[in-house]
Amino acid sequence: MPSTLANVLIAVSCLIYLGSIIWAIQKRQKIARGVGAILALNGFLFLAGLVRLLSGLNLWNGLVRSETQARFPLYAALGIAILIFEATAIFLQGRPPHWAWRALSVVWIGAAVLLNENINGILMDRIPAGGWVFSRPALGAIFLAAGWALFSATAIFQTYATRRQTIHPLHRNRYVFWFAVLFYAIVGVFLSFAVSVWLSLDALITLQAVLLMDYLLSTHDLPDLRYSVNRSLASLISALIAIAVMAGFLLLIQYLTKISPLTQPVQFLPAVLAAAAIALALNPILARIQAWLSRVIVDRKLDAGRLLGEYSRKIATIIELPHLAEVVLTTVRESLDLTDARLFLINICEEEVEWVEVGQENTAQTPTLRLSLQNPVVVYLQSEHAPLAQYDIDLLPRFRSASAPEAQLLKGLATDLYVSLIFQGSWIGLLSLSAKRSGHRYFERELFFLESLAGQTAMALNNARLYEDLKARNTENERLNQDLTVANRELSRLDQAKSDFIDIASHELRTPLTQIIGYNDMLGDMLSHGEDVQDLGIQMTDSVRKAARRLEEIVDAMFDVSRLDLSVLELSLAPTSLAVILDEAAGKWKEALEIRHQALVLQDLSGLPALFADGKRLVQVFSHLIQNAIKYTPDQGEIRISGQCIAEDGENEQEWIEIVVADTGIGIAPEDHDLIFEKFFRVGSILAHSSGEIKFKGAGPGLGLPLCKGIVEAHGGRVWVESACHDEVALPGSRFHVFLPVVTRAAPVLPGEN
Ligand code: ADP
Repeated sequence: MPSTLANVLIAVSCLIYLGSIIWAIQKRQKIARGVGAILALNGFLFLAGLVRLLSGLNLWNGLVRSETQARFPLYAALGIAILIFEATAIFLQGRPPHWAWRALSVVWIGAAVLLNENINGILMDRIPAGGWVFSRPALGAIFLAAGWALFSATAIFQTYATRRQTIHPLHRNRYVFWFAVLFYAIVGVFLSFAVSVWLSLDALITLQAVLLMDYLLSTHDLPDLRYSVNRSLASLISALIAIAVMAGFLLLIQYLTKISPLTQPVQFLPAVLAAAAIALALNPILARIQAWLSRVIVDRKLDAGRLLGEYSRKIATIIELPHLAEVVLTTVRESLDLTDARLFLINICEEEVEWVEVGQENTAQTPTLRLSLQNPVVVYLQSEHAPLAQYDIDLLPRFRSASAPEAQLLKGLATDLYVSLIFQGSWIGLLSLSAKRSGHRYFERELFFLESLAGQTAMALNNARLYEDLKARNTENERLNQDLTVANRELSRLDQAKSDFIDIASHELRTPLTQIIGYNDMLGDMLSHGEDVQDLGIQMTDSVRKAARRLEEIVDAMFDVSRLDLSVLELSLAPTSLAVILDEAAGKWKEALEIRHQALVLQDLSGLPALFADGKRLVQVFSHLIQNAIKYTPDQGEIRISGQCIAEDGENEQEWIEIVVADTGIGIAPEDHDLIFEKFFRVGSILAHSSGEIKFKGAGPGLGLPLCKGIVEAHGGRVWVESACHDEVALPGSRFHVFLPVVTRAAPVLPGEN
């Protein structure tokens, strides 16, 4: 009785769905992903089975409209398609589909029920649309079937697209299994419309789809489909070849002996001898054929022992990190036929771990990866010695606590397998291996090979790191030594400058002091002898005043420089004009210029913008520059002062005034251009300098230019010198540039500018 058999089949599958529900609830901690999908689909199919059982037993008659009863398989098909679509999203991405899909499925179900059941008779049985008239029940059936087709096709497409995108063989393997789920589910629905013919075979097929889905959602290590198929194929082909060769041999023997083993009885001994001959002749050939087939069809075999031996010989003498990286990566890449392999050095800091790539030609482009020490992948790699597959990271619950950015960072490496390099319990390196070119997973023997290789590499890596460390320390020592030499040179220069200063200062101070004392004594003598001091007295007091002024100037310069050192030089800012400042500064040296027969050409600077600056201090700056120009230019020389306004392009559009004090003097060697702005520095030996305020090469205490620099910088400006060389014969001259910013914050109003 077919209908009874069908009911029994449905009842049995209902029981299995119920069992699956109980199993999923019990195992929910372990399944972690997809429990909801398992429960929903099994629950739905359990209910659908019950409904079908009841209609099989004709229990719905009278309760439910016959039209609705006829639609049960279509409703079931749509329900299965939507739930499998949900399960597909969870299976592929670990999360339910986008909310828009969920909304669409709810709307679709609602519309299907409305169209089919015509609740309260709100729809007509014949629906006109675009010049056509549709029968409502037919439209309802089409709508249900279209929903089923849409969700099933989308699930297939998403599985296909995800499989195409992934580079990880283990994931690809998983997706192939999922195709089987989708296939069974679709075939099941097809068969459900042929219920009487197939004795509810559809129930068995759908059951198979759901059980396979339960298995896939709850199992991590799936059998390798491609490998099994390829192996079977290889065995089949080698069996066929063996049969062909054996048959050929037998036919040859038959031909030679004229005895047919099939029709004539064969004696025992000749038969054994013939078999032995065949076995001896054919076995090696068949073994070779088998090996060749499995290499071509399955995957090439790894000669781990030989490779490891060669590898350890190679790395035994390597101490340079880049060389070691090259050997490791080439060995791994070639022996496993990988598209890519990378080596990282591991630096464990307080909170995070750094992965620094080595051996890459363009290391500047390879960023150092930084991951938190709590990242479960880091915890695994640090503590476990076994390789870790990206597949495990993607699917195992223990890796789910990784933060999304870090998970993304790791995904970006496109690694298929990580192998930690651990030396004496410390994690010092990491191999990141891409998928194999063959598209196969890493087989057990290859993982063993990688573990052994990692052990050897860790030791070599540790040595290389120690060596690198030593090299770095050496370089650092050399650098420190160089610094020390420079510092020593600087110290002795400062020491020399200090003693020079003492010499100069005592000389500079003593000259006016001697003059004061000398004139004072002379004046005293003349007065005590009752001489007439009328004429000489005025001259003497004038000389005493000049000497005292010189003393005052030197003491002032020393005082100002010490204030610069303490950064307490204060400026009294006020609106000023550089034309006025330079007039005043130049005016001071009129007499000196006459004495030295030098010409001072001062450009008309009245067109320059006004400045908000300390006029007195700026006079001091330019006065000193003019004084130096006089001192370091022979008689008959020329001093030129020019100025211009410079607008700086860029965001702040700052305006600057540049004043240049140029002379035709002895010039300054390029190596002294910076040094002359340092305290107590003076070019050459102090003996080469004469003493005096305006004399040619008259030495000062070496404080003037540092003071100029301090004052200009306090105004936000810069000062520097330009001079080809120091040559007392060729007289290349010097050009002192003073750059001052035009300050706009307080618009200066100049005297007379009303
Ligand atoms: P000093 O008080 O000795 O002149 P400065 O600080 O003014 O000290 O100058 C430092 C040194 O820079 C001088 O000793 C001199 O050798 C050199 N120098 C300064 N101005 C000029 C110049 N216009 N031409 C050549 N050398 C100069």
